Amino acid sequence: GKVLVTGANGFIALWVVRTLLEQGYAVRGTVRSEGKARHLKEVFASYGDKLEVVIVEDITKAGAFDEAVKGVDAIEHTASPFHFKADDPDELIVPAVHGTTRVLESALAYGTAVKRIVVTSSCASVMEAQEAPRVFSEVDWNNAAIAEVREKGRAATQPAKYRASKTLAEKAAWEFVEKNKDKLTWDLVVLNPPYVFGPTIHEVSAAEALNESMHDWFYSIFKGSKNAKQLSTIGSSWVDVRDLAEAHVLAIKRPEAGGERIIVSEGPWKWQDWVNVARELGADIPAGDESYDPAKTTHYIVFDTTKAGKLLDLKDHGKGGRRKFAEKNKDKLAWDL
Ligand code: NDP
Repeated sequence: GKVLVTGANGFIALWVVRTLLEQGYAVRGTVRSEGKARHLKEVFASYGDKLEVVIVEDITKAGAFDEAVKGVDAIEHTASPFHFKADDPDELIVPAVHGTTRVLESALAYGTAVKRIVVTSSCASVMEAQEAPRVFSEVDWNNAAIAEVREKGRAATQPAKYRASKTLAEKAAWEFVEKNKDKLTWDLVVLNPPYVFGPTIHEVSAAEALNESMHDWFYSIFKGSKNAKQLSTIGSSWVDVRDLAEAHVLAIKRPEAGGERIIVSEGPWKWQDWVNVARELGADIPAGDESYDPAKTTHYIVFDTTKAGKLLDLKDHGKGGRRKFAEKNKDKLAWDL
């Protein structure tokens, strides 16, 4: 089969493209300009014409994806702005929402072979900032971010602007499906990852130009620019970019995933956990908060991953699963990870 990947030059998308190619799919990736196609073509040169890169200059324009959807069996929509530099919240909201609906409109009109569309949403559209520990699941929606942005506009916090863009985009996708349900030849799967970390294989000109989740704060902590208290008290949840890419492929393969939003998370952390891992691996960085005890820390936002376990079998496929397998069978294995 052939899969369309939007925003194919992004951090997550390069891993999605790679995983699809490795599993025998042909890929058509969209990028905004010729310059952004070059690195993709270089990285995957060995796949020859299994990878096609097309230009969609403005994903918000009517008919933007009309040509791109022709002849593909599935779509992975990843393109969406992720940064904390927006003045007007519409800088994020317009491309997030309209980019998503343009993909779905084009798929409805011209995607005659499309059977499944996967939209990369986020835990940003699931969780709301918390004063007390809480477990969030797929039934939860981040309406607080939308309310904050409606009330405060440009004065809303940067996380609220980004989270509102992701929540509104995901809502728009589900509304589109509901409105057109009698006409669709495809169904929708939404993936909701928390912070995505892992090796970067996309084009990055300098550390400062890293994508948001790998830069702020992941790269910053390695420079030692955060204080000990911040490191041991601030955290979130994460997923390895390679596991998330695998989830994107499983999401097009599994019939039973259709019509579902699925949280894909490895678990919670505090920044100090990453500092400790980096130091164990030999990184020469400040120790941070040496009194930190991961067993005693409180995680305020935790995600229920039961659905991903059931529908995507990620525990058997992802790196997390490989590690758990290795732990469980450690007495029998001749290899380690
Ligand atoms: P990147 O910034 O690396 O990639 C973003 C992609 O979207 C790029 O291809 C970028 O193209 C494209 N894009 C951004 N803004 C626009 C725009 N206005 N018009 C058209 N294309 C645009 O980020 P990630 O790979 O991290 O993010 C990919 C997806 O995953 C996004 O939907 C993001 O919200 C979601 N996500 C990411 C998480 C993370 O921790 N990284 C967590 C949860 C969800 P260009 O290079 O031309 O700007």
